[in-house]
Amino acid sequence: MGHRYREHVDHHGQRSAGAGADSRNSILALTSRDKINRRGLIVKISIVVPWLCAAGLLVAVVLLFHSNNQKDAELANVSESVHQVEKLRQAMKELETTSATQSNQLAELRNQQGELMRLRNESRQFREQLQQLTKEVQTAQSEALRVQAQAQAAQAQATQLAEAEKQRMAAVNAQAAYEARIKAVVDANLGLGTPQGQAAAACIGNLGQIEGAKQQWALENKKAATDTPTWDDIRPYLGRAAQALSCPAGGTYSINVLTAEPTCSIPGHAVPPR
Ligand SMILES: [Zn+2]
Repeated sequence: MGHRYREHVDHHGQRSAGAGADSRNSILALTSRDKINRRGLIVKISIVVPWLCAAGLLVAVVLLFHSNNQKDAELANVSESVHQVEKLRQAMKELETTSATQSNQLAELRNQQGELMRLRNESRQFREQLQQLTKEVQTAQSEALRVQAQAQAAQAQATQLAEAEKQRMAAVNAQAAYEARIKAVVDANLGLGTPQGQAAAACIGNLGQIEGAKQQWALENKKAATDTPTWDDIRPYLGRAAQALSCPAGGTYSINVLTAEPTCSIPGHAVPPR
């Protein structure tokens, strides 16, 4: 278009440089040339305008398309956002539910923990009581054992005492019986009221001394029942009695074997058997 304008200006330059007489023709020519130019211009415009319109339309279509796309994208975005919000709400709800459940579970756990503590405490108390009882039982058992041992010892002692008493009574009875027999021997010699009777009693007493010395000698020297001691053997066991050891009636003593009683040569002067 700029080129066309320059051309036009060139015409005017020519015209101003040309002769004045031809100015009318020039104007006519100019007019006709303008007409031609205008027609060309109209033709050009008639070609250009539709293209312009088409271009504008295209741009509009493009813009519209773009806008539509944007709208669609925005719609998608909004839909996505709504979806997200819905999801968030759902998640929130779940979270609330979970939170409530958890708080319930926590309370339950706390209760269970309290119960556990209580049970543990009870268990400890029971254990202590059990230990205490076990100790008491052990003490009672050892006490019972001690008492039982004491009772057994007392029983043994009582048995021993009873046995000793029995032996003592037996010895007492034996002695009484022996003395009774000696009295019978003395009575056979006319009794203690006569010299004969007194001599018999004294002689039986001597024979008893000799028998005692014999038994002591056998015991201390570990002699057998078949051994027979001499006067020298038994003299240490007779002590002071050894000097006055003679029969008032003039009888002679025989010591005899350990299993036999000593005897006097006077008839009736004899220790009765035990
Ligand atoms: Zn005698």
